[in-house]
Amino acid sequence: MSVTNNLIQIQNQIEKSAQDAARQSKDIHLVAVSKKQSIEHIKAALDAGHRLFGENRVQEAQEHWSDLKSQYPDLQLHLIGPLQTNKVKEAVALFDVIETLDRKKLARALADEMKKQDRPLPCFIQVNTGEEEQKAGIIPAELNDFYNFCADECALDIQGLMCIPPADDPPALHFALLAKFAGELGLKHLSMGMSADFEKAIALGATYIRVGTGVFGARD
Ligand SMILES: *Cc1c(COP(=O)(O)O)cnc(C)c1O
Repeated sequence: MSVTNNLIQIQNQIEKSAQDAARQSKDIHLVAVSKKQSIEHIKAALDAGHRLFGENRVQEAQEHWSDLKSQYPDLQLHLIGPLQTNKVKEAVALFDVIETLDRKKLARALADEMKKQDRPLPCFIQVNTGEEEQKAGIIPAELNDFYNFCADECALDIQGLMCIPPADDPPALHFALLAKFAGELGLKHLSMGMSADFEKAIALGATYIRVGTGVFGARD
């Protein structure tokens, strides 16, 4: 399967899942996750007209996108992996949306850097819905306080929530939980669902789905 065909097929699945959920497919955005993919694959997606991509590491994202960004002014890059505060400067310069805001120190660093660069980027708060030790994200019990800190004290533009469900749990439980939290906070965007489960995520309200292997094939 080619990247072009994969994109068409996923778009069809998005249409169908949206219809089944009585939603509009234009409200569901496909973030093509290009981590560990070849430049050839990335260019194939760009040639097919795709413009929304996700990367989980700042350095790899720079390698993939620094040059292409000037060629494609309508490109949108989402950071979907953990961000260290010493990489905030590079991240704010390169990305258009930060999906992995998950601690106060990072919120402050991002707010300062966005001011400095005059790039007030939309942010998502990553929620560790499964409360897994090793996983990034704010735990649900701290979400309200953290949201207020980000929105009020740091004046960050918080647009939604993001989660990565535990590998061995039914993802729908976590998608439903994330949707409930977003509803309580009045946030309209939900980044949830990957190659294996994006249809369930759409059924539960995803507005951004993050699909890597489904678009590009297996990673290097
Ligand atoms: C890699 C990655 C994805 C994409 O996963 P696939 O299973 O390849 O679709 C989505 N979200 C995050 C945070 C990732 O790191």
